[in-house]
Amino acid sequence: MEQGHDVICLDNFYTGHKRNILQWFGNPHFELVRHDITEPIRLEVDQIYHLACPASPIHYQYNPIKTVKTNVMGTMNMLGLAKRVKARFLLASTSEVYGDPEIHPQTEDYRGNVNPIGIRSCYDEGKRVAETLAFDYHRQSDVQIRVARIFNTYGPRMLENDGRVVSNFVVQALRNNPLTVYGDGSQTRSFCYVADLVDGLMKLMNSDQVGPVNLGNPDEYTILELARAVQEMVNSAIEIKFEPLPQDDPRRRKPDITRAKAWLDWQPTVPLQEGLKLTVEDFSRRIGNHVAAQPAPAV
Ligand code: UDP
Repeated sequence: MEQGHDVICLDNFYTGHKRNILQWFGNPHFELVRHDITEPIRLEVDQIYHLACPASPIHYQYNPIKTVKTNVMGTMNMLGLAKRVKARFLLASTSEVYGDPEIHPQTEDYRGNVNPIGIRSCYDEGKRVAETLAFDYHRQSDVQIRVARIFNTYGPRMLENDGRVVSNFVVQALRNNPLTVYGDGSQTRSFCYVADLVDGLMKLMNSDQVGPVNLGNPDEYTILELARAVQEMVNSAIEIKFEPLPQDDPRRRKPDITRAKAWLDWQPTVPLQEGLKLTVEDFSRRIGNHVAAQPAPAV
């Protein structure tokens, strides 16, 4: 909207909140439609950012059949719309298409190690089919597609009950509850700040590249290192509690972003310490525990 575009936001609010878009209500360039994309919709648009689908394991596993429907029927509906109005379509795919990866860091040509019948497959396989659909609409019907593979992303305005690791640790620390580390905490993830990710998505949409392109921050941390960083920043007295590792939890994850750098001139700019500080400040405003975030030492 700041670049002069009109935006129609479709959301069924399954994992979102109206509070997060309140700032745009009343803006003549903004429209909100409460809609579930598993049902078709007719609109006149020239670009579609298809971001619909819960991304947190606890939310996408709550109703796994619905997750598959969103990724298959929802993606078909959005691709059908793109085909009808000749819009460009961007798919928010995921690093989960690599499953529990056997190569490290992950490049886009790696085909993945996904369990087709596990508890994560509604999301992993759902997104893999979504990619297939995008490429088939592109080959068969000339739909202009862009495919981003998004790695772990975090930041302000995540729901308090989102269930992913960054918001869990921040909320637990602000409420003086122990931080729940699953397994021994030696598994790794690479955390991208939301503003960097949005910048990457817009660059990809407006580029000439179809993708897939990895979008993520290549700085890799163990989950225990993340817990320590949150402890240092919010409350160093908070305990760490070890809980069982969920089934099929990927051991290591880190994007190779050579393609994003070369094709889009994109790379993340916000280090974890800085992004975490902004996230803690946002959550502490909402939770009402006004802890001043201290800069954490390097982890
Ligand atoms: N995790 C954890 N404690 C939590 C939530 C998650 O230790 O309270 C771990 C989880 O087992 C995984 C990593 O943190 O190894 C990232 O989990 P998340 O759900 O954020 O994303 P994903 O597994 O989809 O990458």
